[in-house]
Amino acid sequence: MNAIELHARPSSDYVIKLAEAQGVLAQAAAQYAGVNGAASTVVQASSLGAEDVVISHLINSLKLEIGIFVLETGALHQETLDLLARFKASSRAPVTVYQPVAEAVVQFVEREGKDAMFKSIALRKSCCGIRKMEPLERALNGMDAWVTGLRREQSGSRGDVALVDTSEKRIKINPLAHWTWGDVWHTIRENRLDYNPLHDQFFPSIGCAPCTRAISLGEDFRSGRWWWEDETAKECGLHVNATDAHKEAKP
Ligand code: SF4
Repeated sequence: MNAIELHARPSSDYVIKLAEAQGVLAQAAAQYAGVNGAASTVVQASSLGAEDVVISHLINSLKLEIGIFVLETGALHQETLDLLARFKASSRAPVTVYQPVAEAVVQFVEREGKDAMFKSIALRKSCCGIRKMEPLERALNGMDAWVTGLRREQSGSRGDVALVDTSEKRIKINPLAHWTWGDVWHTIRENRLDYNPLHDQFFPSIGCAPCTRAISLGEDFRSGRWWWEDETAKECGLHVNATDAHKEAKP
């Protein structure tokens, strides 16, 4: 049974949620449109996971002027790299790939080892800092807003995700905030969207290869990510807001 057969079950108010997602994306494209021929200042951050595939589809089908970027950390699964190549070739919206600074990765691996992320949370966060956070800063440079695939249902820490999050200087737009996993897969099925085959192998959330595993029936959605760590540490920093970051910094 593949992920579509397993998960594609739209909720009763799916049509309303779809219109809501389309509306918030269209509004963002209009609000952050480039002036005098300049590029727009809103961009989608895509990990090529199921939610991001759906959002990119909405951007492309509505012909919205919203660019898309992918962080190619140098540690992605081959399946993800293959999907990235197909996506780049088929997307109407421009897709920009950001990679970490090679020198920084080499030095980190030489100093701490290839499996440093398993040795301590601090080293795992250092790895995420080099491979994800620094490229993210470059990707978001000059942007007023970014679009993410966050959903309330994904984990307890994301239970209050807002459709438009204005708590940070850079606005975060979460068109699928109210969507269920069933809604996501229903959209993939209805529109025959290309998706990461790892989803068919019980990977609901896909990140770097060393730090992602399949989950079992009944396990939490995000339990396949950094599974050796405490629940409270399970974000790479991409979606940690200023308040949480402050809490994290406390002894
Ligand atoms: S998810 Fe794992 S491999 Fe990827 S950047 Fe973070 S620690 Fe490194």
